[in-house]
Order: sequence, then C-alpha cells, then structure tokens
Amino acid sequence: MRLLLNKGGEIRKLFVGNKVYFRGLIEFSNVCNKDCYYCGIRNSNLTVNRYNLTDNEILEAAKFADENRFASIVLQSGENSSRAFADRITGLVAHIKQLSSNRLGITLSVGEQPESVYRQWFEAGAHRYLLRIETSNQELYGKIHPNDKQYDFNRRMDCLYSLKNIGYQTGTGVMIGLPFQTITDLVNDLLFFQQFGIDMVGMGPYIEHSETPLYAFRNELLPIQERFNLSLKMIATLRILMKDINIAAATALQAIDPLGREKGIKAGANIIMPNITPGSYRNDYSLYENKPCIDEEPAQCLGCLDARIALADCEIGYGEWGDSIRFINNKKKISG
Ligand code: SAM
Ligand code: SF4
Repeated sequence: MRLLLNKGGEIRKLFVGNKVYFRGLIEFSNVCNKDCYYCGIRNSNLTVNRYNLTDNEILEAAKFADENRFASIVLQSGENSSRAFADRITGLVAHIKQLSSNRLGITLSVGEQPESVYRQWFEAGAHRYLLRIETSNQELYGKIHPNDKQYDFNRRMDCLYSLKNIGYQTGTGVMIGLPFQTITDLVNDLLFFQQFGIDMVGMGPYIEHSETPLYAFRNELLPIQERFNLSLKMIATLRILMKDINIAAATALQAIDPLGREKGIKAGANIIMPNITPGSYRNDYSLYENKPCIDEEPAQCLGCLDARIALADCEIGYGEWGDSIRFINNKKKISG
C-alpha cells in the first residue's frame, strides 16, 4: 500500500505540481427533495433542523473566500427542482462574480437539473459542476436509492454528459465502502472516470448515518479504517490512471482520521474544500456521523490549513483558480 500511495503523490507532483487549491465550500441549504438511502439530510429524516442561508449570508461567505484569496468557492445544497431555486442560483452566481470582480471561480453542486437550467447557470458565470455518480454500477445504484423514476441512473449519467457538453469543468465521484459494493465495482468506477474523460473527481469513504435506511447494513460494512485505506488507494490509483485531472481530498476522509485530507494529498489529491459555511449551520448539514470542523468558524479553520498542507510537502495555491489541466488542454485542442 505504501508504494502505491507514494507513487500517487509522485505522479501528482510531476504532472500537476505541489500546489493544493482551495474550494471554499458553502453548504447553503440542507433542504432536499430527495431520499437517497445513505444521506443524513434526506427528505424523510425528520430529526434534521432544516435551514436555508439568506442571500446575504451566502454573499458574506463568498466575500470571506475572496478576501482570503481562496480564488474558488463551491455552492452545495440538497436537491431542489423548482423554478424559483434555479433563478435564485442564477442571481447568486452573477452577484458573486460581480462582488469579486470576477476573481472567484464558482463550482455548483446542487444535483440533477434540466439541461436548460445548467446552461442558465453556466451563462451566469458558474464554470465547474460536481455531480457524483455515487457508483458506476447501475444495479448497486438501484440498491442505494429508492426504486422510483426520480432516481434513474441513466438520467444522472445524462446530466453528466449535459454538463460536459455545455462546457463546464465536470466533476464526479463515488462513495467507497458502500454496502453491497465489491472491489470490481471500484475498479469499474475508476475506468468509468477515464472513459467519460472526467475533469475532476471527489470521492471518499461512505460513512453510515443512523437516521438512514442503509444503517440497517452497518454490520456488513468494511471496518472504517479499511474504508479509509481503500479511499487512499483509490486516489493514488486514479492519479496514476488520470495524471492531469483535479482530485479532491474529500472531507469524509477527515471524519475518520484527523489527518485524512493531508493523507489524501500525499496519495495524489490536489484540491481541498475548506468548509466556509457559517459555523451555526454546520451541525445541520450532517451527511454522516462525525463530520469534522463543525464547531469551528471559517477563520479558525484557515489558521490550521497552511500548516497541515505543509505537512504533506505541498503549498496552497492562494489566489489561483487551479483549473483542471486536462480540461485546459482539451479546450486548447478544440479551439486550436
Ligand atoms: N444534493 C446534491 C447531490 O446529491 O448531488 C449535492 C449534495 S450531496 C450531500 C453531496 C454528496 O454527499 C453526495 O453526492 C454523496 O456522495 C455524499 N454523501 C451523502 N451521504 C454520504 C454518506 N453517508 N457518506 C459519505 N458521503 C455521503
Ligand atoms: Fe439530497 Fe444529495 Fe443527500 Fe441525495 S445525496 S438526499 S440528493 S442532499
């Protein structure tokens, strides 16, 4: 395992350098239409205290990111397919571009939407989108979601193709260590990323949540440390397979090991997503148990990050978008 992780880190350094880029994560709402079997903020979990940040709170968080030279933010929430939601995001994206004089790059991660909505957001200024496929095995996908047309594997896949066609830097990912998942599934996940020609990947361990249906299978899971190690091996293998993409060290790694994200970087990741959601809401965006940094204010988190990244022999690319090199090169090929 050590050899594999070292190789992942070595290849990261050779192909994308030793800079780690920030994506300031704003979890702006935990209200969700959906009921994914693994997720703590699923619609049917009545124990969740639902929140929706005001526009002002979101803009303040974006300003914080800009002032601290994060260069990029991610707006993430539960899924909402209303017109009002689509228009609200359009307005917010345009406002954030304006308030930061175009300095802030904006990634959206708000689930499945019609192509016209993805296009509307792209035209407003969003340029990256994260939509995890969760697993590339359609049968397994069926087992971790309700059996309903709202959870159609092919629709999710079509969304990924729409995002790519529109021109977004497209990111996806999977959960590692899901119930019923096999090593073959994980190998196929990596091959799927390659075959799709993905620009960015964010993948991390599945962590059970007591208020979800998959909790019933908690005794069939790999031990948590094995899920963690498997996640690091997935990162390293993906880096060897796709040398020039952006790979995020998922927050879920840190939920298992306090140095989880740094270990992810050592294994080949080059992106981290510091949580800049106002502290008072963090507890309520609880996808899984032991989500880290929920008691800290964004500014407190910042102090520890420089030192932590240095531990992984890397430096933070302050003020740089850190776009996926693969995406940039493909764009050059198309336009040249
Ligand atoms: N609602 C949007 C969506 O589903 O694409 C974006 C937000 S959703 C909370 C972001 C990601 O959280 C999901 O894609 C899923 O992979 C991850 N997630 C949810 N529950 C999880 C769990 N129990 N363990 C690890 N990751 C989880
Ligand atoms: Fe909603 Fe996303 Fe959680 Fe599914 S994973 S329940 S869509 S927030």
